[in-house]
Amino acid sequence: MLKRYLLAPGPTPVPPEALMAMAMPMIHHRSPDFIPILESAKEGLKWLYQTSNDVIILCSTGTGGMVGSVSNFFSPGEKALVINGGKFGERWTKICNNYGLEVTEIEVPWGYAVKPEQVEEALKGDPDIKGVFIQASETSTGVYHDIEGVAGVVKKYDDTLLIVDAISALVAHDLRTDDWGVDVMIGGSQKGMMLPPGLAFVSVSDKAWARADKATSPKFYFNFKAERDKIQKNQTNFTSPVTLIIGLNEAIKILKEEGLDNTFKRHAKLANATREAVRALGLEMFTKESPSNSVTAIETPKGIDGQEVYKTLRESFGVTAAGGQDQARGKIFRIAHLGYADTFDVITAIAAVEMTLKKLGHDLKFGTGVAVAQELLMEGK
Ligand SMILES: *Cc1c(COP(=O)(O)O)cnc(C)c1O
Repeated sequence: MLKRYLLAPGPTPVPPEALMAMAMPMIHHRSPDFIPILESAKEGLKWLYQTSNDVIILCSTGTGGMVGSVSNFFSPGEKALVINGGKFGERWTKICNNYGLEVTEIEVPWGYAVKPEQVEEALKGDPDIKGVFIQASETSTGVYHDIEGVAGVVKKYDDTLLIVDAISALVAHDLRTDDWGVDVMIGGSQKGMMLPPGLAFVSVSDKAWARADKATSPKFYFNFKAERDKIQKNQTNFTSPVTLIIGLNEAIKILKEEGLDNTFKRHAKLANATREAVRALGLEMFTKESPSNSVTAIETPKGIDGQEVYKTLRESFGVTAAGGQDQARGKIFRIAHLGYADTFDVITAIAAVEMTLKKLGHDLKFGTGVAVAQELLMEGK
């Protein structure tokens, strides 16, 4: 028997309370059994998003929320600015191109964060840019982009929307949708929300709704105005993903009990302990600045293939982490501390990394990283 531990940046472990709730018999999505459940999930999402804007719920993975955020607010031929600092930044460009937008990219080297001044310069240089597309946490590189700083810039442009893919950042980072003026922010169920894959959430500001009235891109399934009209009546436009929304309510209940501040502090603490433990082992962080609290990206020691680390973690020790994507493939491995994560997820991850590297021939003393993690997690730093 090999006991399994899921420490990947999505899907993430689901707490037993949510699993139990999702095991209840099916109910009808337009019945009085379900409507209060959807209402409570909707209110819970607003709390989590720190917004009084509408937050719509889609039955899709996170990417569906990204696609809808392009098709509902933009028209073919309009100009978009994409912050491309990794695999998911690249996805923004692909989606925008797919809908005929004219894309300019700020290319950020993998492992680095965009500077708000770069965004400012681009917007000053081209006042026709209608939307700025960015990730909060770029999961492929473990970087957190300065959303507050970028929002401060975009806010000055009346005709430009800020669209944030917060799919892996929501819950792990304090994202102040209203205070910062984020127009559209996308979340997904299988990351910080501690649920199975299958839900996307999108918050929409008044500024963005005004643009939705003019956008001519085709949309049928991801029709945000239709979803807004329905969710105001505590329904969704098509059949609701009933089971997942029941789970969503439970997940939000758990987060509310912890309190938002404590949730963010927990993620910061777990991320810090992971990083320091890895450094104590003499490994290099792949993330060179502004590390995310969701996932830690680590360079593999010279002579060891990153994919081997990922495979050995899983096959020999039952730990599912993540490897590197594209240009980082073979060079890095990634450990998540996201959602339903606590002290012993980090201890497990670090202990398993030590055993894996030893097994692959790397010279290290067992317990070096674990001891550092224990110190930091016990002190609550
Ligand atoms: C996981 C993730 C997505 C969405 O992926 P799906 O497979 O569609 O859920 C998008 N952006 C980021 C930053 C992610 O981490």
